[in-house]
Amino acid sequence: MSGPDVDLNRVWLVDPVAGREGPGEIVVTDGVLKAVTWLSGAEADGVDATGVVVAPGFIDLHVHLREPGNEDAETVASGLAAAAHGGFTTVCAMPNTTPALDEPSVLARVRSAALASGSPVELLAHGAVTAGRSGETLAAMGELADAGVVGFSDDGSPVRSASILRSALAYAGALGLPIVEHAEDHTLTEGAEMGEGVVATVLGLRGWPVAAEFTAVARGLALLADVVVDVPGARLHLTHVSTGEALDLIRLARARGLPVTCDVTPHHLALSDEWVAGARRFAWDGVDEEGAARDPWADRAIVAGPYASSVRVNPPLRCAKDALACLAALRDGTADAIATDHAPHSDVDKTVEFGQAANGISGIETALGLVLAAVDAEQLTLLRAVEALTTGPAAVLGDRTRRAGVVGLVEGAPADLVVFDRSERWTVTADALASRGKNTPLLGMELSGRVLLTMANGRIAYEAPTPTDGQTRITSRPGTLT
Ligand SMILES: [Zn+2]
Repeated sequence: MSGPDVDLNRVWLVDPVAGREGPGEIVVTDGVLKAVTWLSGAEADGVDATGVVVAPGFIDLHVHLREPGNEDAETVASGLAAAAHGGFTTVCAMPNTTPALDEPSVLARVRSAALASGSPVELLAHGAVTAGRSGETLAAMGELADAGVVGFSDDGSPVRSASILRSALAYAGALGLPIVEHAEDHTLTEGAEMGEGVVATVLGLRGWPVAAEFTAVARGLALLADVVVDVPGARLHLTHVSTGEALDLIRLARARGLPVTCDVTPHHLALSDEWVAGARRFAWDGVDEEGAARDPWADRAIVAGPYASSVRVNPPLRCAKDALACLAALRDGTADAIATDHAPHSDVDKTVEFGQAANGISGIETALGLVLAAVDAEQLTLLRAVEALTTGPAAVLGDRTRRAGVVGLVEGAPADLVVFDRSERWTVTADALASRGKNTPLLGMELSGRVLLTMANGRIAYEAPTPTDGQTRITSRPGTLT
């Protein structure tokens, strides 16, 4: 068996394990990362972080691949292709499929689809907390753990009752796995259509209160504090946290030493509720000097029609102040990871009135572009952004990834990396997306940081077509796959 050879000369390397970035070169021989060389002095002249960047392959803690049950929206194969196009080499599928991933045979089905796809992207999965995600009885958690799930979640919904969540934290903790909680108090969000606030009021949509996330996070943290006394291995991971209030609670809990981790999504970092009205500016451009959201109508920021179902998502897009709070949480380490909550939907489920549309954004291919927009706006450093896409999620997963927590640019290991060009912009179009889900409000927009190459486990997962200007930035020889 032979793998690909790749030489990348005079590029910007980001190694989050070493906490280091700078000019360098890498050599991949036969799929193995043979040499990582840091350049200095005259050799490094002219190489900076605004051009071609090489980082370890990204890890996504939260994706919806829709198989089994809703293959019109996505399949394991199309989802893994989308991941590779987005620079991701490890993804964790959520269990809200039909049937739900609540016993090992469903996991086996998903795994065989991944194998059949031929993709080298690593597919991991979370098992359901409750049987059928019904919230009533616990799923076969021990069997699921034996089969290799990396956590448990009833995502799409919170775990319905506090007493079941309490038991689940204890069982999962004894198995060494986290509960991945979608924090939403359903009694506060019934009929809610978009984030509560001025925009919802003007548009006449039912508001989705910040308190619905806050109370659910508080519930989870209170139960965790209780359970961890008897089960030291208990762990809570709060996914797609979207409000400053909830992040403040998590910050306090971490300061007290509670074993809680959390992730934020690219869309909650970069977009805000005014997108529902038709604004299309990034969250940090929609605030005044005090960090309060500006009026998009007074600002003449409305450039698209209102009520686009592509911006309907759960949790909803919040006000710009919350987006800034998510960015602050990433900067100070309260948020461990950026997870995409990639939620592809078919047109049938999205081409309906706003309040009826399915929740979710097809986001794994645009995640890097949104994160780099935050870096360009100096909301995040490039190194911190890469950490949140690599070492951060790896720490949540522990040794259950193929890379066993080693996500740096490690000589001698199978190449697992992404190469992107920050100077190259690309337009988000339905055709440009490998995902079957074209439901993104970014269609027609330009993003920077086109992915040129994604290598997973020593194989090429994605390679961009040769640039039309005839320049060759990457030389590679596709290996024969055996
Ligand atoms: Zn969710």
